[in-house]
Amino acid sequence: MKLSRRSFLKLTGTAAAASFLVGSGMKGVAEAAEPVRVHYGREVPTICTFCGVGCGIICHVQNGVIINAEGDPDHPINEGSLCSKGSSIYNVSYIYDSKGRPKPNPNRLTKPLYRAPGSSTWEEKSWEWMYDTIAQRIKDTRDKYFTGKDENGVTVNRTDAIAWLGSAFCTNEENYLFNKMARTLGIVNIDHCARL
Ligand code: SF4
Repeated sequence: MKLSRRSFLKLTGTAAAASFLVGSGMKGVAEAAEPVRVHYGREVPTICTFCGVGCGIICHVQNGVIINAEGDPDHPINEGSLCSKGSSIYNVSYIYDSKGRPKPNPNRLTKPLYRAPGSSTWEEKSWEWMYDTIAQRIKDTRDKYFTGKDENGVTVNRTDAIAWLGSAFCTNEENYLFNKMARTLGIVNIDHCARL
């Protein structure tokens, strides 16, 4: 019989769990534990967005709700394993209630929060306010600290007063565009958050 890596992991995992439960006199528990919740979910492969490694994840979806997320054993990068960030990705959006049913995580941020300079409190703001404020501050800072020529008279057209940090939640193409935009503004301090 030809076994894929995924089938092998499923088979050995199920066999090991069953033999432990039966061997420890917990046959009723073994029967009750099978089938597990994810058997009813539709498998949807995706990519972890926490960092640039790009590990494969399988989401189990039931009635339009993700009920589980775990490493994809068939993915060539991670072969089923996930680091602590990837392992917790499900809980960013959902948590389980006392009966094991998924419900939206109440700690998930759904609105922009702003903390003014020197303040210790966060205020809810609209996206429009956030975009306008960010754009205005970028313009003000760039105008104030723009360098056309360096001390040797060489044209540099840059600002050292702004740093730009890309996001691992974005695709390569989005980060490419961010990079273009930052350089258009004369920003030279550009980095990416992978592994932070
Ligand atoms: S955060 Fe972890 S699981 Fe996610 S892509 Fe990076 S290494 Fe993989």
